[in-house]
Amino acid sequence: HPILDVDHVRQEFPILGRRLHDNRPLVYLDNAATTQTPQTVLDAMDDYYHRMNANIHRGIHSLAEEATQAFENARKHVQRFLNAADSREIVFTRGATESLNLVANVFVRSEMRPGDEVIVSEMEHHANIVPWQLLADTHGIVIRVIPVTEQGELDMAAYRALFSERTKLVAVTHVSNALGTINPVAELARIAHERGAAIVVDGAQAAPHQPVDVQALDVDFYAFSAHKVYGPTGIGALYGRLDWLEQLPPWQGGGEMIKRVSFDRGTTFADPPHKFEAGTPAIAEAIGFDRALQWVERYGLDVISDWEQHLLLNATEQLQTIDGLRIIGNAEHKAGVISFVVDGAHAQDIGLLIDQLGVAIRTGHHCAQPVLRRFGLEATCRASFALYNTPAEIDTFVSALRRVIDMVRG
Ligand code: PMP
Repeated sequence: HPILDVDHVRQEFPILGRRLHDNRPLVYLDNAATTQTPQTVLDAMDDYYHRMNANIHRGIHSLAEEATQAFENARKHVQRFLNAADSREIVFTRGATESLNLVANVFVRSEMRPGDEVIVSEMEHHANIVPWQLLADTHGIVIRVIPVTEQGELDMAAYRALFSERTKLVAVTHVSNALGTINPVAELARIAHERGAAIVVDGAQAAPHQPVDVQALDVDFYAFSAHKVYGPTGIGALYGRLDWLEQLPPWQGGGEMIKRVSFDRGTTFADPPHKFEAGTPAIAEAIGFDRALQWVERYGLDVISDWEQHLLLNATEQLQTIDGLRIIGNAEHKAGVISFVVDGAHAQDIGLLIDQLGVAIRTGHHCAQPVLRRFGLEATCRASFALYNTPAEIDTFVSALRRVIDMVRG
């Protein structure tokens, strides 16, 4: 393929050389769950523990200085990656889930009264549903849900109609992990702002696959995880517009997030982003995150997106030739995720059997039960692509799937 030397890419990932049952090569198509990690990211984290390990922001000794510098460089890199205006707008978290919980907790506590409304969509990951439900229980906020069309897109007319005087916030995903749908975030944000509401976007499935510019999208908050962008688990980021981060209260309390602590005169908090980063953060992981973004930029998100679209098209065409296979979600704009069900074959059985042939796909509800129920389903099979996947792997996947379906159907 003219745009990519994929063999070269693959050589950077030691795990892709693994062989599974009967010495079959691993075909890893579960990238929406987590991506694999290139050697350069492993090296960066290893190097940190070998040479630099120290707690940050406290010590004045050399190691602490170096570690702090590396950690803050990672923050600046995330800022550039999202095109945020200021590095103080980047809060490190444990991942998209913690980023969304953070926004939910501080926004509801500070900006919402009982009866105020948050709009979420029917296609959200549970990470962008359950935090709101927990706060509905404790703070009396009301959750409104944007329905999903038969094609797997947001019903935009219904979205517009959901706003009321009490709508304070919209919380939507950029890309659906269950359907692959790419949502029109700039338009969603424009409408929210026209109605006086803020918007938080779950970018867990978008940031790895297409360029994201939080200023162009004009969103108030944007969440994502490093481990879906070729980085380590245990770290992610929350972008929050600076005026919001200055105005909102802290969530977790502890070291690093205060200016001054006193029993009789009260406690004052650090400026953003430190106000939202209580305790010792994931330092090695931040350094790995930085290196992963560097790795992504070496190829560029435009190339990554083109390559994955090429794989998506190829896989979609081949899957459509399988008798009784139905793809769930046919949005006009779709990322490299294919959810499907097969007549006469349970998703779970397909997943288990195809694993025996070396192919890793996801089966189940993908932490998005409401949208699967919208399609009358409890589970699908899901194949999802990354830069290191190849057209030959798609062929292997499709022929393995044909074999498995024949086995299950007897
Ligand atoms: N949102 C979406 C759309 C996701 O796909 C995921 C990961 N499956 C998450 C949120 C949660 O990400 P994490 O588990 O890394 O916090």
